[in-house]
Amino acid sequence: MDKNCLFCKIIAGEIPSNKVYEDEDMLAFRDINPQAKTHVLVVPKSHFATLAEMNAEQAELLKKCFVKIPEIAKSLGLESGYRLIVNQGKDAGQTVFHLHIHILGGQNMGEKLV
Ligand code: AMP
Repeated sequence: MDKNCLFCKIIAGEIPSNKVYEDEDMLAFRDINPQAKTHVLVVPKSHFATLAEMNAEQAELLKKCFVKIPEIAKSLGLESGYRLIVNQGKDAGQTVFHLHIHILGGQNMGEKLV
């Protein structure tokens, strides 16, 4: 845990969140400033800011997050599709430097960047 990290504080329960899924490896909660009808963040329970800082153990954790995401998405009613975004660094607009995966859906996601 990084004592200065917002998402570490949410994982520790020091800051409340609107939780949609939790297990020993990850926490998923609703984004406070949703960019789609459904906007959830999946956060591994180990602090690393970006993929560039990730160690082998954390890579396993991230794999578990991606394996779990279809189940989380189904529980959110996103059977017709969703978009995943993982911002990496300042130019990507990353604002919280604890790696997280955005799940966006619940609507037609419109124009694609790629
Ligand atoms: P990023 O810009 O990729 O680093 O994403 C950070 C996300 O965290 C943004 O979409 C914020 O709206 C979201 N966020 C910031 N503070 C909170 C909070 N307390 N609870 C839930 N989501 C948050």
